[in-house]
Amino acid sequence: MSRFQDKVVIVTGAASGIGKEIAHAFAREGAKVVIADLKQDAATAAAAEIVASGGIAMGVAMDVSNEDAVNVGIDGAHDAYGRIDILVSNAGIQIVHPVESFPFADWKMMLAVHLDGAFLTTKACLKHMYADKSGSIVYIGSVHSKEASPLKAAYVTVKHGLLGLSRVVAKEGAKHNVRANVVCPGFVRTPLVEKQIPEQAKELGISEADVVKTVMLKETVDGEFTTVEDVAEAVLYFAGAKSNALTGQSLVVSHGWFME
Ligand code: NAD
Repeated sequence: MSRFQDKVVIVTGAASGIGKEIAHAFAREGAKVVIADLKQDAATAAAAEIVASGGIAMGVAMDVSNEDAVNVGIDGAHDAYGRIDILVSNAGIQIVHPVESFPFADWKMMLAVHLDGAFLTTKACLKHMYADKSGSIVYIGSVHSKEASPLKAAYVTVKHGLLGLSRVVAKEGAKHNVRANVVCPGFVRTPLVEKQIPEQAKELGISEADVVKTVMLKETVDGEFTTVEDVAEAVLYFAGAKSNALTGQSLVVSHGWFME
């Protein structure tokens, strides 16, 4: 029997990048996967890829920062599959500016997608998890949950914030047999990072190659990007833990960029 046979897993932001690989990894282990992403067509296409490779998946349109959309999407997934065992709160965006010129609208957008999104999806899933006396939530944090970098005031703030949310959910969820943990990746070459390379080059006045070498991977032990597979493996490890021993924790997957 596969590790997550018949478990129901919701992954937000799973039409691309890290979330997409997490969804595929759960599907390969027998889970029924709900791909929640902004656009219905992208979510449906990502779910179809899983189905084409023999898995079970459905796509749900959901802006994680919109309370009604989250509640309708999560309740719809619950109606379709009958339970919710695991939430992976992964949807995210990146906007970089120096603090003194960070547009307030961009700041609020960052907080809305990352923090409102994590809160709203958690709240909507906990209702079902508490009723079933079982559940596991994994937040996708970042090395920026532990470290700061220039230009990333909003990102560093929200990624630190996820540690706090996860720890409270771990404490409140314990009596309902619900665990919460955070996976903190280093740089992974997804569309979110590809977009940052020219932006940072412009802001810092250096070449794109130097952004990769001297900014993104400078502190790693081997100059390597973390991969979507590396991140997915850590998520499945947290999600599949057999007891409540593993809760309220964070795991950094970053080629040694950050060492606890
Ligand atoms: P990505 O851009 O490839 O994918 C992000 C997905 O989130 C997209 O499919 C997008 O449509 C979706 N999304 C954006 N806003 C949304 C919203 N409001 N509601 C629902 N879905 C929304 O990015 P990625 O690199 O795969 O990032 C995924 C997560 O991993 C993010 O939380 C990011 O902060 C985190 N992370 C990424 C890296 C990295 O280097 N790529 C490192 C550490 C952490």
